[in-house]
Amino acid sequence: MIRKSALSIFFLSLLLLLVARAKGQAQNFDNVQIHIEPVQHNIYMLVGAGGNTTVQVGSEGVLMVDTQFAPLAPKLMAEIRKLSPGPLRYIINTHMHSDHVGGNAAIAKLAGSDPALPLKIIAQENVLNRLTATAPGQAPFPEAGLPIDEYGTATKNLHFNGEAIIIYHEPNAHTDGDSLVLFRGSDVISSGDIFTPDGYPFLDIEHGGSIQGEILALNHILQLAVPAKTQEGGTYIVPGHGRICDDADVVEFRDMVVIVRDRIRNMIQKNMTLEQVKAAKPTRDYDTEYVTSNSFVNADRFVEAVYKSLSHSTEAGRSSR
Ligand SMILES: [Zn+2]
Repeated sequence: MIRKSALSIFFLSLLLLLVARAKGQAQNFDNVQIHIEPVQHNIYMLVGAGGNTTVQVGSEGVLMVDTQFAPLAPKLMAEIRKLSPGPLRYIINTHMHSDHVGGNAAIAKLAGSDPALPLKIIAQENVLNRLTATAPGQAPFPEAGLPIDEYGTATKNLHFNGEAIIIYHEPNAHTDGDSLVLFRGSDVISSGDIFTPDGYPFLDIEHGGSIQGEILALNHILQLAVPAKTQEGGTYIVPGHGRICDDADVVEFRDMVVIVRDRIRNMIQKNMTLEQVKAAKPTRDYDTEYVTSNSFVNADRFVEAVYKSLSHSTEAGRSSR
């Protein structure tokens, strides 16, 4: 367990902002400050509002994972410029939620374009499909921010700033377009919202998320992460929201998710209704750790998502790792 003390203020303000968004309130970003947290080697985590941004810098320029919200783009870019004056060559989006892709177009514009060194915006293809499928009355996603370098394979590889970067599609986890980004040389994983150490995972079932995919994705992070001798350190994980973590933090979170899934699966097998399952409080012993009054995913919401995910598939009867 590392840097737990760094948690509270940033994460709570993030959640407040998310809740405000969910309620349709206009957000005021004027007072949001971007903080740079060194992760390991040439990788940094930038915390502001919205999802965490991961930045890799080096002799070839800048790569960033996720772009927070559009109004924060000038502040985000100003912080990136403290790390590197080089060209912004890659944006990788871990998934389609607006607190992770919202700044794409504004950042692209601020970074400027050199035709010889163009910016590529990369995401799993379902992200592009979802961002271009706007509902009637909804403003279209800015074209300059669309991930037109989308991939539909299980992995996509890059080599940038002297290290291999491997992007893995994690099917139907938080959404249907989740990517994990492994910086193989720096030994850092950017997980997107598959992993949120300080709150229950948000299974966005409407956008293809599922509990089974969530668990498989968390297990995949654990396959890729190698702890140092003491179980602390080694591979570091930049989560979708919250503090920089290590292997032990992901184990703790994965175990919680599996235990809650198993409890709810047992209740479904006893033909309990959603209301009965909620009343039985299958997350009770975890709520103090994962829920605050401002949580984006409270206990009932997590239970409901797991219940629906298990009920909507044959997963309730399947044994799994
Ligand atoms: Zn998300």
